[in-house]
Amino acid sequence: MAEVAQLFEDLEPSPRLLMGPGPVDVYPRVLRAMSVPIQGQFDPEFRRYMGQVMALYRQVFRTKNAQTLLIDGTARAGLEACMHSVIAPGDKVLVPIFGRFGHLKTEIAKRARAEVIPLEITWGTVFEPGQIEAALKQHKPRMVAICQGDTSTTMLQPLAEIGALCRKHDAILFVDATASLAGNAFETDAWQIDMVATGLQKCLSGPPGVAPVTFNERVVEILNHRRHVEAGIKPPDFVEGNGPIIQSNYFDLAMIMDYWGPKALNHHTEAASMLYAARECARVVLEEGIDAGVARHVLTSKALRAGLEAMGLELYGDAKHRMANVTGVMIPKQIKNGDGVRAALLTDFGIEIGTSFGPLAGKVWRIGTMGYGCRKANVLRCLTALETVLRRHGFGAPAGAGVDAAYKVYDNG
Ligand SMILES: *Cc1c(COP(=O)(O)O)cnc(C)c1O
Repeated sequence: MAEVAQLFEDLEPSPRLLMGPGPVDVYPRVLRAMSVPIQGQFDPEFRRYMGQVMALYRQVFRTKNAQTLLIDGTARAGLEACMHSVIAPGDKVLVPIFGRFGHLKTEIAKRARAEVIPLEITWGTVFEPGQIEAALKQHKPRMVAICQGDTSTTMLQPLAEIGALCRKHDAILFVDATASLAGNAFETDAWQIDMVATGLQKCLSGPPGVAPVTFNERVVEILNHRRHVEAGIKPPDFVEGNGPIIQSNYFDLAMIMDYWGPKALNHHTEAASMLYAARECARVVLEEGIDAGVARHVLTSKALRAGLEAMGLELYGDAKHRMANVTGVMIPKQIKNGDGVRAALLTDFGIEIGTSFGPLAGKVWRIGTMGYGCRKANVLRCLTALETVLRRHGFGAPAGAGVDAAYKVYDNG
């Protein structure tokens, strides 16, 4: 009997307005960039694109770090590459935790066989520099691994003073800027941050699948000690590092550095279409200007928040430390089924907003206004739709109040 292939339907996802905590709608230019012909990673033309990506992301990260490159995989691939490559078994790693992604970093550090020192505060707040310095003094960690913005709580950790503290106590400062970069001010060099990882699918408005990272000479020195190369590609003059081998091959930054650098030492096959996407994301962000982009995120979230409050909703978390690209809103008591509201927004209006995890599960919705999605039309659409859906679920907001309040923010600039 002839085999009957099962083909399913043509791929035609319904159009959505992605206003959750990520992923977000992709810039159309980025989608186009992903459809150009791929090349091999040793094609001189493609090497030139790789060099351009490094130069573009130095500007996005605001750094002079030579080592500014892409890790193939979603944002957590960047986190794993950075943490596994620096942390040797037995190293102490301090993880200040103010949300879900802090816990993720303790988990990655544990798998890297670190001695993990978790430092927890209540969700919805951020750390004072003094709290971190006290832990640095007490534990003398090799690394401090912290989020800038933790989308799970929508809080933004001030970092300007943490870098200097880490230098003083001889720790490597590693920052997860996945959720915040390009939507909130971020300064790699000026804030003395040693190592940063991010992803494309938040304020950079790309598809998930590649993780831009940058790291400085303090990190390179550690990596050089741990440098080992696969036998099959080892150059005759290669000198092995005397430190412990990095436990992951795919995420070995010492090898990845040589792959991106002038040696062009073979490692993985470059995810060419994702590299094109990352290149275009950076071009879009830099074309607008980082400061202008951050200002757009600040204004948009201000309009959204004014609208939500005018509807009689309460915002979540410490007002002084909110991210400019995600807003947490308390689910009102009258609403018995928060997920029902989200489902109605999705099915009736095509708008996705986010739920929450851990202690906030069932209590908070999260609304993203990031990157390409961070615009007036989306705020007005979201408020209009939310007002309607809330009314149908038993919460009556004053008609039109949300949209009017948002308009007012725009009218006053
Ligand atoms: C969204 C987010 C991530 C995402 O990681 P993925 O592997 O891309 O899912 C990582 N860190 C933070 C702080 C985030 O907000």
